[in-house]
Amino acid sequence: MNSGISANGVRSLLRRVFPAACPVCGGVAEETPLYPVCRQCQGDLPLLPPEHCRICAEPGRYSGGACEVCAADPPPFEAVLTRHLYSGSVMGAVRAFKYAGHPELARALARMIAPAVMESGGRWDGVVPMPLHWLALFRRGYNQSHLVARVLAAECGLSFWPGRLERIRRTQAQAGLDREARARNVLSAFRAAMNLPAGSRILLVDDVVTTGATARAAARALLEGGAGSVSVAAIARAPTLF
Ligand SMILES: [Zn+2]
Ligand SMILES: [Zn+2]
Repeated sequence: MNSGISANGVRSLLRRVFPAACPVCGGVAEETPLYPVCRQCQGDLPLLPPEHCRICAEPGRYSGGACEVCAADPPPFEAVLTRHLYSGSVMGAVRAFKYAGHPELARALARMIAPAVMESGGRWDGVVPMPLHWLALFRRGYNQSHLVARVLAAECGLSFWPGRLERIRRTQAQAGLDREARARNVLSAFRAAMNLPAGSRILLVDDVVTTGATARAAARALLEGGAGSVSVAAIARAPTLF
């Protein structure tokens, strides 16, 4: 280009003329790390309390560090890495990202996960996104976990391994189901791909972890497919209400 103005210059000029709306509150988005989430909403991002289950991140203080559910039935994953609670402006941003056609939020949301991944001190061979069934992918036009996982892998200097986990069965939406119904719903919904390297340490990326039923089913499929270990990274943890 010889116009003397870079693509970035054009973009920032456009933003000045047509400021983007914050997807959470509709206010004017500013040039911040979590752009286009506005400064106000970023200040209100609800944090996961320091006391939470060391495995599934369920908020609360537990003797031995693990919640009753994890103690009674240990998950196939090592930990859920997240910094945020699924409420308030985090919920608003995730909903805008998943349901209101804002795939550009992937960068901001991945940056919200990156510190939890870096601070955990864990080591991974590859970052695997939670797969969507093809029909859901067709309807939404993008797999939200794929977009977040790709940015997260780049931010953390890890390899991005899309397509190493497949969704082989369509499932009902988990929202509105209780713990047992969720577990039944996702049973044998996943299968590891043939090209999953044996013994690999996987960082599985999901948008929100609620009861962990989906994460358990996906992690189990990865381990059955030969993975050595699985950790889960998520934008937020929804506290279990039942
Ligand atoms: Zn806002
Ligand atoms: Zn737990």
